[in-house]
Amino acid sequence: MLAMNYRGPGRVRADQKPMPEILHPEDAIVKVTRSCICGSDLHLYNGNVPDTRVGTTFGHEFTGVVTEIGSEVKKLQVGDHALVPFNIACGKCIFCRQGLFGNCHESNPQATAVGGIFGYSHTAGGYDGGQAEYVRVPYADVGPTVIPPGMDLDDAVLLTDVVPTGYQAAEMGGIQIGDTVVVFGAGPIGIMAAKCSWLFGAGRVIVIDELDYRLEFAKNYAQCEVYNFRSMKDPVLFIKKITDYLGADVCIDAVGAEATGSAIQSITGRKLLLQAGSPTALSWAINSVKKGGVVSIVGVYGPTGNFIPIGNVLNKGITIRANQASVKRLLPKLIEHVQNGILEPKKLITHRIPLEEVADAYRIFSDKLDECIKPVLITSPINHSSTEQRETHHEKYH
Ligand SMILES: [Zn+2]
Ligand SMILES: [Zn+2]
Repeated sequence: MLAMNYRGPGRVRADQKPMPEILHPEDAIVKVTRSCICGSDLHLYNGNVPDTRVGTTFGHEFTGVVTEIGSEVKKLQVGDHALVPFNIACGKCIFCRQGLFGNCHESNPQATAVGGIFGYSHTAGGYDGGQAEYVRVPYADVGPTVIPPGMDLDDAVLLTDVVPTGYQAAEMGGIQIGDTVVVFGAGPIGIMAAKCSWLFGAGRVIVIDELDYRLEFAKNYAQCEVYNFRSMKDPVLFIKKITDYLGADVCIDAVGAEATGSAIQSITGRKLLLQAGSPTALSWAINSVKKGGVVSIVGVYGPTGNFIPIGNVLNKGITIRANQASVKRLLPKLIEHVQNGILEPKKLITHRIPLEEVADAYRIFSDKLDECIKPVLITSPINHSSTEQRETHHEKYH
């Protein structure tokens, strides 16, 4: 089968790889129909996540048709078209039972923090991901959710990560009616977090980034204020100024390890790898939130230490909340929001690229070329939605 194959930092290609097989009675094999590239895949691509092994296949945001099931799979059936949450979760351990599907204690033998994640290095279990024609899906009765009839596949694939992660970012912020929310990062997650902040009653939503085309997109999609930090001397002071010198009630870090904006953080976190990524956005969030406020982190960092202003966390009495989204817990509500048109995730998809051209897809997304917001890899076309027509007459990738 055709699959994305990681060859080392900055290098991926489409290769023939062996078909995945059922390895456990609770596994399923899924023929992938849509598979996104995520901002967090770029952390892998750029060599910022430890134990990312050459030869692995990335991809934790995918939909697909079930082609085979193990002997103990009871709910999912061959022929079902499912969206598959990025978390691999057993559904039975003490963490899964609390709804913490991102922290399953069984699916990742390598760590005691994060659970298993498709295509996300051996620090997240070493599972091959969905940027391939086929993928093995463990615990097939737990995560995979049959796509409701009539739902566009482009909406469905974004319910595997972008929508729940953006939503949970806002949820963890504990937003009160009228609150000012600042979102750092105008990637798909930040844009979705801004959009979802309104659902929790925010009175003002501000997005900060360095790319004007993304800020413009965020302004239109999430009806928020947007500012380019390149145009200001000090983003923290700027946020203080526009919030009566008190700071924002809630700050959301939707950037993670590859933040720009601070030379010292970039050198130590991205070049020398003395810390697990550059926590510039997180530092700004801590320093620009109001005393007693909440910082919500969904940006991804490697599983080791970072230089963050922890003294300010203490002295300001800040609450920090953070986690990988618990996709399965949030899906029922978010499917409803998509069906009711409250959230329109497919608008985020700017590029549709055949799996064969995965190297181009990574380059376009990583280098922020062609005003790319969110690329999706098209693997096996099937006649499921209106989106198919868009693919056949794309001008290159649109
Ligand atoms: Zn993702
Ligand atoms: Zn579990």
